[in-house]
Amino acid sequence: MSFKNIPGQSKTKRILKDTIKKDRISHAYLFTGNKGLGKSEMAREFAQAIFCNKNIADGCGECISCKKFEHDNHPDFHVIDVKEDHSSILIDQIRELQKEISYKPYEADYKIYIIDNAVRMTEQAQNSLLKTLEEPPEYAIIILTNENKNELISTIVSRCQEVKLYNQPEEIIKNYLRDNKSFNKEKAALYANLARGKYKKAVNLALKEDFIDKRDELIKFIVNIDKKDNFEIFELSEKLKNISDSGFPLFELLLSLFRDILILKQDENDKIINFDYKELIAEAVNKFNIDDIFELTNLINQYKGYYYGNIKKELLFPSLFFKIRSKKKK
Ligand SMILES: [Zn+2]
Repeated sequence: MSFKNIPGQSKTKRILKDTIKKDRISHAYLFTGNKGLGKSEMAREFAQAIFCNKNIADGCGECISCKKFEHDNHPDFHVIDVKEDHSSILIDQIRELQKEISYKPYEADYKIYIIDNAVRMTEQAQNSLLKTLEEPPEYAIIILTNENKNELISTIVSRCQEVKLYNQPEEIIKNYLRDNKSFNKEKAALYANLARGKYKKAVNLALKEDFIDKRDELIKFIVNIDKKDNFEIFELSEKLKNISDSGFPLFELLLSLFRDILILKQDENDKIINFDYKELIAEAVNKFNIDDIFELTNLINQYKGYYYGNIKKELLFPSLFFKIRSKKKK
């Protein structure tokens, strides 16, 4: 493994490599950023780079330390996770960490612990971990990952050096999917667009059968929305509300669809995102005015904001679909 396995994030990688090169490694880190950017992968790359015997501020993949790391048997590397049949990381697990961390490293200069999705620690567990963060052994490095630092108790956050990961440009995700995941050009462009800068989300979506089915249903529904009655709109909305809560990119999909309708109106057929539905989307081209498409695009963005705010979600989706239906030429 190497930092190269994570697409983009050049700023973050530079900071991490510099701390290794300049020997300024802290005792505690908090990796933050949206879901799907690869926080946990970045933490692992960082750990491997610290352990690597070649002193190149990255994992070489060849030295004995890298080999052990990549085979999950580096004796100085530990991951604390939720135990089977539990929903959070418990104080007992942190106490175990505290006992274990007091022994010196077996073979490296450091002992590295990763706690992924740190918000899953109970408050007791967090308070207990705080003691270790306040007085860590000189060889200890603890890396927490979490989407948002505000979800953790503030005393933990203030003890950690924050390392931010950022949403990446579509181009970077597209190239990654093409070069590393053998997506063809069109498929790479589609998923890079829908995942909005998050490479893991792009890969997950492409693998999810549920996503492929629901995308099919949504595109067909919108193209034929003038034939749908209120009951059908409520029914689809209910389904979409549930899957949106678990990561279905409804708003991205709607935006890409109206963008495609607009592009087909201008006869630029090779630039559409939903390339596999070109013929179906072409049927919608004469059903929406250009002005209405712009208005709907603004509206979808506005509803996306509502969705992530605290608006009642039950009425959000039907209301959006009624508005789309009302714009459709009869
Ligand atoms: Zn190495």
